[in-house]
Amino acid sequence: MKKLALHWQILIGMVVGVLFGLGMTQFEGGKEIVQDWVKPFGKIFINSLKLIAVPLILASLIKGVSDLKDISKLSRMGGRTIVTYILTTVIAVSIGLMLVNVIKPGNSISEKTRQELVENYSSNTAKYKAEAAKQQSSGPLQALVDIVPDNIFGAATNNKNMLQIIFFAIFFGIGLILIPQEKAKPVKQFFDGFNEVILKLIDLIMLAAPYGVFALLAALVVESPSTDLFKALVWYAFTVVLGLLLMIAFYSLLVWLFTKKNPSTFFKGISPAQLLAFSTSSSAATLPVTMERVTEHLGVDEEVTSFVLPIGATINMDGTSLYQAVAAVFIAQAFGMDLSFGVQLGIIATATLASIGSAAVPGAGMVMLVIVLAQAGIPEAGLALIFAIDRPLDMCRTTVNVTGDASVSMLVAKSIGKLGKPKVKDWDDNYPKS
Ligand code: ASP
Repeated sequence: MKKLALHWQILIGMVVGVLFGLGMTQFEGGKEIVQDWVKPFGKIFINSLKLIAVPLILASLIKGVSDLKDISKLSRMGGRTIVTYILTTVIAVSIGLMLVNVIKPGNSISEKTRQELVENYSSNTAKYKAEAAKQQSSGPLQALVDIVPDNIFGAATNNKNMLQIIFFAIFFGIGLILIPQEKAKPVKQFFDGFNEVILKLIDLIMLAAPYGVFALLAALVVESPSTDLFKALVWYAFTVVLGLLLMIAFYSLLVWLFTKKNPSTFFKGISPAQLLAFSTSSSAATLPVTMERVTEHLGVDEEVTSFVLPIGATINMDGTSLYQAVAAVFIAQAFGMDLSFGVQLGIIATATLASIGSAAVPGAGMVMLVIVLAQAGIPEAGLALIFAIDRPLDMCRTTVNVTGDASVSMLVAKSIGKLGKPKVKDWDDNYPKS
């Protein structure tokens, strides 16, 4: 019998997980059963993905950079990547701002609801504010200083320091290009083989993906807060989701215009990564699968994916930046503030930077939102308004973050002649490959 394609398996896992979670909330003690006996499997699944993220970036980036053979190729690709990433982020923020100004979701919040929410969540607000204050207390060049690790093993032990690992890998790769061929060859072969092993591990982990997302979603459903609070926020969520959908449409248009790949091929190729991003709310945890899908199923050369995607997972967060713009203006509206055009332009700049600075983990976008609010003079207590609905929106924005990275990798690959035929055709997509 023909095996069901991976994205269908994951989708079924998600739906069954939600239904199971909902069912368990109907029983006394059901929530605890899910937390004790189901949730840990979700955690194991995420851990195993994160486990291979650092070795994957190291091996594939060192291999990718050294394969480029000369430095000018690297700077050409690097320049295109960064410019495209920033452009798509600015477009995302602008779409968010436009929608939130037209829909005005914040105006539908009553004074009473606002007070209630602020009181309920004030303790959480304090936690988030403290974390963001830590980020803000450093000087203007701190972000740059943070890119250069003082100890590569230190950087590798902390999943939050992806940029440091990327820096080391590029630096090492450049060194490898510059030394004599006969010395470089065994080192390159080692990383080549290492990379192959990691890719195999991803295949194996993905066998468990349908069960992993089942556990993750079941746990999420039993732990989500009461639905009363959601109602006031429906318009806000609608605005964010509409913006995110527009971004997805925008990516497929870009990919179609520049690479001539039709949207259905693109989505078929990338959908397992999208579903995983949705279930894990973490671009970092999804990165191994994004890389595998884009390389094998969309025909982007490994030279490009190994460079463009790890960087994208860390700095290119279009979904997050769009959400931050909408959330900031939504809170301002809820507090009855009128934001001038100048302040809104400022939001474009800060949301772009804040999304670059957000870690690729669940909830990071919300922490960095504090900076956008502070810059625009919007009350930080307003964060309380959006806590309740942040997780589902995080799932959606992470999906867009990952889709954005994948699209840009295709554009960059096309522009330097590195977009070829996919190795795996999706119509016989039986996972794992035999
Ligand atoms: N969870 C997002 C990501 O990993 C970041 C965010 O919180 O917006 O891409």
